[in-house]
Amino acid sequence: ELRKEDYMKYLYEVAVRIHEKEEYITELDAETGDGDHWLNLDTGFQKLTEKLEEWTACSYAEFYRNIGMTMMSAMGGSSGVLYGSAYLKTSKLLEGKDVITPELLGDILEGWASAIAHRGNTKPGFKTMLDAIYPASKRYGQAIEAGKDCKTCLGELKRGAQEGAENTKNMEAVRGRASYREDKSVGHLDPGAVTMAIQLECLAEFII
Ligand code: ADP
Ligand code: MG
Ligand code: MG
Repeated sequence: ELRKEDYMKYLYEVAVRIHEKEEYITELDAETGDGDHWLNLDTGFQKLTEKLEEWTACSYAEFYRNIGMTMMSAMGGSSGVLYGSAYLKTSKLLEGKDVITPELLGDILEGWASAIAHRGNTKPGFKTMLDAIYPASKRYGQAIEAGKDCKTCLGELKRGAQEGAENTKNMEAVRGRASYREDKSVGHLDPGAVTMAIQLECLAEFII
């Protein structure tokens, strides 16, 4: 399970992990897009860490809404809109809740994937961040449904995200700037899928 205090620690940790990968993430987006993906994410997560303290007293649902609004306004790029939509949509699932249970986490991940698919008008296989969240959500959900233990379910979440991100390398981009290139960016990882996987791996590590 995951309480709001733990979610705050998780966001701090994501901010650190993104911050230290400047060169790697910038290079990925320079190859397939416009090179600002690291800057967009880093700006968004740094802003979140500055604001966290103001949000200690609010409800979990309100906290999620605040994260969504901050990502929308501070992150910028396609990422800001897509992550913003994901958090805003799933904030509704947290109404009246003060802990994210394993089952609720499944619903949240599914909500993120469907918000991103909807907002980005994208599908799995189009070489976007959806290609990390979708398989992660699906594999986690299947493991939960099969009644597997928590560690196994989280392993599925992690591997779904990692393998999903790796699989973008061979995909032809259908959405985003990577699709503007003549070669459809085949042979390059999608930066948004890589940073989504970083977040999901971290999330799996924070569930206790
Ligand atoms: P921008 O492309 O506006 O510069 P970023 O560099 O922050 O924004 O983010 C690029 C990432 O956003 C891509 O690698 C991809 O994963 C994701 N992305 C772009 N367009 C879409 C879309 N229509 N649907 C889903 N994800 C998308
Ligand atoms: Mg970019
Ligand atoms: Mg840009």
